[in-house]
Amino acid sequence: MLQINYLTKEYGKVLANDNISFTVNDGEIAVLAGPNGAGKSTVIKCISGLLRFKGQIFIDGHPNKTVEAKRVFGYIPEIPAPFDVLTVEEHMEFVARAYSLSNYKERIEALLKRMELWDKKDKLGKELSKGMQQKLSVCCALLPQPKVLLFDEPFVGLDPHAIKELKNIFIELKQAGCSVLVSTHMLDSVEEFWDRCLILMNGRVVAERTRADIERNGEDLEDLFFKITEPQGSRL
Ligand code: ATP
Repeated sequence: MLQINYLTKEYGKVLANDNISFTVNDGEIAVLAGPNGAGKSTVIKCISGLLRFKGQIFIDGHPNKTVEAKRVFGYIPEIPAPFDVLTVEEHMEFVARAYSLSNYKERIEALLKRMELWDKKDKLGKELSKGMQQKLSVCCALLPQPKVLLFDEPFVGLDPHAIKELKNIFIELKQAGCSVLVSTHMLDSVEEFWDRCLILMNGRVVAERTRADIERNGEDLEDLFFKITEPQGSRL
């Protein structure tokens, strides 16, 4: 479970996250949506421990900056940042050792094959295309089998095959009981599997809906998004 309580983050005078609270339950895929500058990446960076913030963030019950939280947590950033001089396979080996995994060779091969990187396993980080870097980032995050995952704009730069594969992975993560938070502008890309949606504007959650809420009310997620984020939109 991922739990955010009263998250507030200021960059100088800019209030990027204003008292945000939400929970992503086990086996749930939550979508963080909102216009440019709404505060989505700031939420993600706070959760992943990259920023200082006010409030509380618990990952599987542990405060987000603890080792216990980091052990069960995977983060796929918006912009992948592989090491220039490590090969694809060495990146995976690095992650396996950092997390003290055992019997991981077969899993590395399976993940790299699944994301069509096995034939690139000897390529250096600096030799990878943007899409290959993104695929590697996904493979590295999945290797330790985390319970809580954050994806920041995961589909950007991926080819159609990788998008399809990643969508299957999301469904498998959900079935495995993971809590997944996906920040995206492309609501149609998560249409098949989202369970909860949080719409952010000006640093605040202005609407939260579960799939059941939307179905019960006969709403459409994209229509709701546009209605809420229109300039005159107000909290619903
Ligand atoms: P986008 O969809 O464009 O990626 P976002 O919803 O992820 O936007 P954030 O990047 O979290 O939004 O930005 C939220 C607010 O914080 C914006 O007003 C932005 O200008 C500001 N901001 C983000 N990073 C910084 C920073 N390092 N220093 C100062 N202000 C920042």
